Amino acid sequence: MQWLTDMPGIGLKTASLVLLFNFRKPVLPVDAHVHRVMQRLGVLGPKVSVEKAHDVLLALLKPHLDPEGLFNFHKHNYWHGQQICFFQKPNCPRCPLKGFCSYYQEHYGPATPEALAATPTHWDAAAWGQLPH
Ligand code: SF4
Repeated sequence: MQWLTDMPGIGLKTASLVLLFNFRKPVLPVDAHVHRVMQRLGVLGPKVSVEKAHDVLLALLKPHLDPEGLFNFHKHNYWHGQQICFFQKPNCPRCPLKGFCSYYQEHYGPATPEALAATPTHWDAAAWGQLPH
């Protein structure tokens, strides 16, 4: 990791992306999407920085996930932040994670059985577009 972060302009996120995506090393890149989703769900506290989140999330996940799992975790949280859990106005009514989400509970109250039943269980490509690859 350090041989990358020692290079000018290469931070922890970029170094982690290179190591995970190109070399399948067991690291977890945390970008703004992953950080925001993890904070809203309540996995990360409100004061945990993006930099610190790399260590916190990796400590939680590494015992359970191999590099492929870490890659999928990053990718799916990235998509979730990009497509549903938007920065300004998260699309909580359509979100399949509402039943576990601190932000949802704060803003809407506990997820009701009706709200959970109304949540799409499959990606609606017609409404939301194709998933990025
Ligand atoms: S319920 Fe809302 S805030 Fe929570 S993860 Fe889903 S979109 Fe984000």
